[in-house]
Amino acid sequence: MNQYAERVLSRLTEQYFNETEYLQSVRAWLEMIDPALDDPRYEKLDLLTRMVEPERMVSFLVPWTDDQGNAHTNHGWRVQFSSAIGPYKGGLRFHPGVNASVVKFLGFEQTYKNALTGLPIGGASGGADFDPRGKSDHEIMRFCQSFMTALYRYIGADTDVPAGDIGVGTREIGYLYGQYKRICGRAESSALTGKGLTYGGSKIRQEAAGAGAVYFLARMLEHQGETISGKRIAVSGFGNMAWGVCKKAAELGAKVVTVSGPDGYVYDENGVGTPEKLACLTELRTSGADRIAPYAEQFPEAVFYAGKKPWGQAVDVAMPCATQNELDVSDAVQLIAGGVKYYVEAANMPATAEALKLLRLSPKILTAGSKAAGSGGVAVSALEMAQNSIRYSWSRKEVDEKLHGIMSGIYDASAAAAERYGLGYDLIAGNDIAAFLKISEAMIAQGL
Ligand code: GLU
Repeated sequence: MNQYAERVLSRLTEQYFNETEYLQSVRAWLEMIDPALDDPRYEKLDLLTRMVEPERMVSFLVPWTDDQGNAHTNHGWRVQFSSAIGPYKGGLRFHPGVNASVVKFLGFEQTYKNALTGLPIGGASGGADFDPRGKSDHEIMRFCQSFMTALYRYIGADTDVPAGDIGVGTREIGYLYGQYKRICGRAESSALTGKGLTYGGSKIRQEAAGAGAVYFLARMLEHQGETISGKRIAVSGFGNMAWGVCKKAAELGAKVVTVSGPDGYVYDENGVGTPEKLACLTELRTSGADRIAPYAEQFPEAVFYAGKKPWGQAVDVAMPCATQNELDVSDAVQLIAGGVKYYVEAANMPATAEALKLLRLSPKILTAGSKAAGSGGVAVSALEMAQNSIRYSWSRKEVDEKLHGIMSGIYDASAAAAERYGLGYDLIAGNDIAAFLKISEAMIAQGL
């Protein structure tokens, strides 16, 4: 690694030694952009330090009462990572595992994910260590209202625009937006994205994250002279991302044969693609139980494997859609043994550093990272902001075409940067380098 990058990383490691996810994502990125670090201005301007740390970060308490009248106190965060190319933009995650390290890694990755969408958005992330499992609708509403009461002063259409992530869907965005509007006294619709279609949301936003990942995969297949039709895909997770991948894959003639939850995975030889099966995923998600087993009860052709991950199934494509570090070395070994040919990350940093190394080094596997393949959701969020600002609503077809074009643009930029730096067909490094070059140029242009 470049000596300046090395120094930046060791200072960061010293300061945030217990923030493992954050350090993992920064280290991986510094390794990827290494071939592009030969410009002496970077060190002179101490650019890397300013790129790997958030510009601003707030933490706050979120007190709320349950249906029995008992008080609970959760912790909330917003990490405003980079405003180099636009207002801070990124999701909110409600999950008991959320902490400062997780929101910082998400905000960091979001910055470089957003950069290549071609739309003017900076990077951010946030959330709370709140567990939505088993909570009533009223409890969720009170929690969202309290969360927004703490957050509202830091966000806004030209400042920072939150959206959903794990545990935050259309329902939560509705409650968050309602509270924001009430406190601020303005229907400032593009202060949040992922809104419902009746009050400023964009068509396609719900399926955009998964659809974008499938569009990206289709370009990789095309590069190999293959088509998506007939491909067997293993997916992990059963949330918004997994659902969107299943839906778009089915539309394009591919078959998603696995989906998973914390309780295990289901294998469905016929593919998770019919409207009934897609609706079942949504129902299981909104039930709040966080279990995938009931899928196999509803569709007897599917088999449930308790306590197992889906990576042992022989498939053409693996698309992790659940969460960070869900895929470890033993999973990577299984995927390689099973003859997988494409590994496309849809969730943020789904593989451990060692697992990703194995997959990348395997000569038979083509890999793509989530900063590229996972950017469809935020891309349509930016389109939602555009529609809000012109007080207009594009048709499904218009938004879908734009999403398709954006994903293709990200693919082309990644492939071109890899080629230019002599890295062959390394889409992960190519994406990181192209995003790095764009953001560094914007930062240098704007001065210190
Ligand atoms: N968490 C989402 C993401 O992946 C949403 C970001 C957004 O729409 O702002 O990128």
